[in-house]
Amino acid sequence: MMARKICLLFMLITPSLLAQTPVQHIEFDGYDFYVKRDDLLHPEFSGNKARKFRYFLDHGFPDIQLLIGYGSAQANSLYSMAALAKLKGWQLHFYVDHLPQWLVQRPLGNYRAARLLGAEILAVANQLSGLSMEQYLAQQVLAGTTNTLFVPEGGRCRAAEYGVRLLAQEIQQWSEQQKVEGLKVFLPSGTGTTALYLAKYFHEINSDIEVLTCAVVGGDHYLLQQFAGLSDDRRCYPSVITPTKKYHFGKLYREFYQIWQQLNKTGITFELLYDPLGWLMLLNYKRQHPQRPIMYIHQGGLLGNESMLPRYARKYGVC
Ligand SMILES: *Cc1c(COP(=O)(O)O)cnc(C)c1O
Repeated sequence: MMARKICLLFMLITPSLLAQTPVQHIEFDGYDFYVKRDDLLHPEFSGNKARKFRYFLDHGFPDIQLLIGYGSAQANSLYSMAALAKLKGWQLHFYVDHLPQWLVQRPLGNYRAARLLGAEILAVANQLSGLSMEQYLAQQVLAGTTNTLFVPEGGRCRAAEYGVRLLAQEIQQWSEQQKVEGLKVFLPSGTGTTALYLAKYFHEINSDIEVLTCAVVGGDHYLLQQFAGLSDDRRCYPSVITPTKKYHFGKLYREFYQIWQQLNKTGITFELLYDPLGWLMLLNYKRQHPQRPIMYIHQGGLLGNESMLPRYARKYGVC
C-alpha cells in the first residue's frame, strides 16, 4: 500500500518535475546576497546531485534495469541515486566500504530515505582484498553486464555537464532579466564537477558571470586536479578561494556550527558539510569586495543534517 502510494506520488510530480528554481534575496552579516534555491528543485530529487544526474532522468535507457553507485552510506548521492532509480523504475545497488552497525539499527538521513525508496546498500570491505572500490566494481560487479548503468562516486562524470548547463542557463537568464552586471556565482566544491561545468558554460557564451568556489574535500591542489580531469582548458576553470585554515571534510568545527546557526536567521536552512565553509569563505570575499553582486547556490543535501546535527549537539551543545 505504502509503496503504491509513493509510486503514485512520483507519477503526479513527474510532469512538473524539475522546473526552474527560485532566486531569493537575503541579508547576512550586513551584506546582500542572492541565493539560488536549488534545494527546492523537487522534494526527493533536488540539489547538486539532481542537477548532475539530470541527464539520466531526461534520456531513455530502455535496456537498463540496474543502477550502480558507491560512496559513503550517508552520502547525498546515495539518496539522489535512489530517487533517480525510483523515477526511472530501476533497482539501485549502492556499494559502501562499511555499514556502521548503529546506522543499520537506527537508520537516519540519506541512508534511511534511500532505503525507503527501495535502494539496496551493500557493504563489501571484506571482499575488496586489496582492490580499490572502483577496481572491485569493474572486475567483480560490472564486467559482462549489459543492463547496468554505473555512476562514479559523487557523480563525477561527463554526463553531469548536461544538467549543470541547465542550471547555468537559468542563472544567465536571471542575471539578464534582473540586469545584474558582473555577477559572482559562489558554490562550495567536493569533486568540483558542478563549479567547473558552470564556469565552462559561462566562458563558452562569453558571459560576464564569474564562478567562485572553495575546496571542501581535499585541498586546492586536489580540486585543480579534478578540474583538469574534466577539461584541459584552464581559461574555463572557476576561481578558487583558499581557506585561511586547513579543514578536514566531515569533521566538526565550532565556527561551522556558529555560522550555520547564524544562517538559520535568514529563514533558509543550509546543510552542515559544505555550506559552513562555503559561507565562511564567501563572507571573507564579500568583505574585500563589498560592491560585487553575489549569488550563492544552495545545493541541497539537507537530509544529511539529520546525522550531522546530533553530532554537533553532542560536541558543542544545543543553543
Ligand atoms: C555533492 C555536493 C556538493 C559538491 O558538488 P561537486 O560537484 O562534487 O563539487 C556540494 N554540496 C552538496 C550539498 C552536495 O551534495
